[in-house]
Amino acid sequence: MIQYFKDVWEGFWTVLVGMKITWRHLFTQKVTLQYPEEKWQLPPKSRMRLFMAYEDCIGCGQCARACPVQCIYIKAEKRDSKATPIFAANGQPIKLDVSVFDIDMSLCCYCNLCTYPCPTNCIYMTPEYEFATTDLTQQLYHFAKTGAKFLTVNPKAAAKPAAPAAPAAPAAPAAPKATPPAGGTPPAPAAPTGGAPPAPAAPSGSAPPAPAGA
Ligand code: SF4
Ligand code: SF4
Repeated sequence: MIQYFKDVWEGFWTVLVGMKITWRHLFTQKVTLQYPEEKWQLPPKSRMRLFMAYEDCIGCGQCARACPVQCIYIKAEKRDSKATPIFAANGQPIKLDVSVFDIDMSLCCYCNLCTYPCPTNCIYMTPEYEFATTDLTQQLYHFAKTGAKFLTVNPKAAAKPAAPAAPAAPAAPAAPKATPPAGGTPPAPAAPTGGAPPAPAAPSGSAPPAPAGA
């Protein structure tokens, strides 16, 4: 009989111990977010979905060689030497035609190693993390697009220091203060126009388009 009451008490006590944490959290501030209506503020260097600005890719393949899981597939061929020269946004000439640039995000381990060797910084990780799918083929992103816009003016050359400004035009003789000429104030001399060349066109790769396979 005594053993019976002892077992009952131990069972009751075990429940109390198990509920200890539950009771404590009843009176503390809640940290659960109602996802997807509420979302965490991610750290600035979060590593999520990869993106590649195709129009800045020179096809060097360094990103694919750095990838530890070999999930970047590139196919590139030499461009026609007579074709119009095209350049990446940082001025690197694009000498290869990249016909295939695929990233299999279902294999990617988000190590970020592919972004470091890229000479044009055109492959990078975005803060986008909501790209789960039930079909793994949807995780194979095709970045090589036929409609990509390329820079045909080297932005690196345009970024060089401007040529020295032309000597200033001789100052116009000051009009007599006491007796201004009839018809009002003489027109001001035109500003010198021999200074810096016109600003280059803004690089077209700044706003990344959505991945084709997304
Ligand atoms: S983040 Fe890492 S695993 Fe993913 S593609 Fe780049 S190098 Fe490969
Ligand atoms: S390292 Fe950069 S430029 Fe070279 S193939 Fe990869 S994405 Fe293109």
